[in-house]
Amino acid sequence: MRREVVIVGSGIAGLYCALLCAQHSRVRLVTKNTIVESSSSYAQGGIAAVLGTQDRFSKHIGDTLRAGAHHNNRHTVKLVVQEAPQHIQALIDLGVQFSLDPRGKLDLTREGGHSKRRIVHVHDMTGQAVEQALIAAVRHHPNIRIQENELAIDLIKRRNRVVGLQTVKGYYYADAVVIATGGAGQIYPYTTNPPVVTGDGVAMALRAGAKARDLEFIQFHPTAYYLPGKQPFLLSEALRGEGAYLRNHEGKRFVNELLPRDKVSRSVYRQQRNGLVYLDFRHRSKSFLLNRFPGIYQRLAQDKLSLEKDLIPITPVAHYLCGGVHTDNHGRSSLPGLYVIGEAAHTGLHGANRLASNSLLECLVFASRTAKYLTRIQAHHQHFKAKKMNLPKPDDTSIGLRQQLQNVMWEAGGIIRSAAGLTSGVQAVRAIQASLDPRQVELRNMAIVAEAVLTAALKRRRSLGCHYRVN
Ligand SMILES: Cc1cc2nc3c(=O)[nH]c(=O)nc-3n(C[C@H](O)[C@H](O)[C@H](O)COP(=O)(O)OP(=O)(O)OC[C@H]3O[C@@H](n4cnc5c(N)ncnc54)[C@H](O)[C@@H]3O)c2cc1C
Repeated sequence: MRREVVIVGSGIAGLYCALLCAQHSRVRLVTKNTIVESSSSYAQGGIAAVLGTQDRFSKHIGDTLRAGAHHNNRHTVKLVVQEAPQHIQALIDLGVQFSLDPRGKLDLTREGGHSKRRIVHVHDMTGQAVEQALIAAVRHHPNIRIQENELAIDLIKRRNRVVGLQTVKGYYYADAVVIATGGAGQIYPYTTNPPVVTGDGVAMALRAGAKARDLEFIQFHPTAYYLPGKQPFLLSEALRGEGAYLRNHEGKRFVNELLPRDKVSRSVYRQQRNGLVYLDFRHRSKSFLLNRFPGIYQRLAQDKLSLEKDLIPITPVAHYLCGGVHTDNHGRSSLPGLYVIGEAAHTGLHGANRLASNSLLECLVFASRTAKYLTRIQAHHQHFKAKKMNLPKPDDTSIGLRQQLQNVMWEAGGIIRSAAGLTSGVQAVRAIQASLDPRQVELRNMAIVAEAVLTAALKRRRSLGCHYRVN
């Protein structure tokens, strides 16, 4: 009998793992929306790897540890950094056309916290390009079955072992279940994460009894374009790097725009209490802006805004979940049979704050390590039992509860935290949880992860990395 692996999620972690597992197993890839819908598809900047002649593994390791406030697992950092180059090559072999410099070599760019140029990218649309290459490969693989628009609901456990996955369509019993469901940005009202990122995998694992770590470390990004009722859109750090200003409601600059992300986020957040905050790039020409930031320029143009003429309304946003379900260096969680990779996992790479462009790298390295480890497991009993579950459509009450939850998280578990705020936040989230129907799957998952984030933040009394407490 062939081994069967069920993978939940079609971001870069899930797709890459599916492709590698398919070399030795049958793979079922379950994803709740269309295959492209994921944070991965929106990644702009790139993937970090030591590729330049001036760079060294020791420098990438040092930068990762500094960004993570030395809360990282050193051993994990070392192996991820050392394995990075081989995965960039694997993506090139799959057809990803990374941007090249005028000499025809990989164009290595630099981002905040990196001491060297080491980010490979495809213009400002890296995630989309990598997703497309991986999707093309998994679609053509005879051992991979893709199941789109299928929401995973829960893990199936026998004794203390995960033996399968329940989805809206039924029960899949398999030899291994791999969660690759991404982070939990949607627990906040303002986030760069798309609507599918509701923390489902983390919540499923927690319900099943798996251990999670470092959930309090939520990375906020200081500048996303925001208009009420619209999904925030990331305004890359490179805008400030190239000289954009930040202005408050009185039109005054209030912060050194080049300070680290968390400091700028706190400053913007404080200013927002008095009114709207803006990004201002009116001092540069249209030709420069259009040429340097084509994606951002075009997105703003859809709302009839031009970078060279208009003040752009911004907000800080929840961007990245540094913690997650705790795993070892083979993707194994604390529950036998359950593997977790990508943003849903806590591998120890990021510590208390993620270094830019290390997250796609983490997806690749641990997807590969997990796929390799799974060659060791035996094929057991596999089958599918159909049982359709009808889920209620979101109504005014559930939409209201979702907004209430997100607002509690913004105030209590957001950029600036306090003991009193966190304590009342936990109570408010528990009250919301108690009022939910378990068939409100995503909302229930959001509430479970929200409570876990607040509880972890309450336990960590001191500020560290991207966790900031005033008392
Ligand atoms: C705007 C933006 C820009 C970024 N830029 C960068 C960058 O330049 N470099 C970098 O390294 N990182 C970047 N990041 C972070 C990085 O993109 C993510 O950490 C990474 O893509 C996560 O990949 P993943 O495969 O773990 O999860 P995701 O890509 O989020 O995929 C999760 C998948 O799981 C599916 N899913 C979720 N719940 C369920 C369920 N219950 N049932 C079935 N399917 C489910 C989703 O539909 C989705 O397919 C960025 C993130 C954002 C949002």
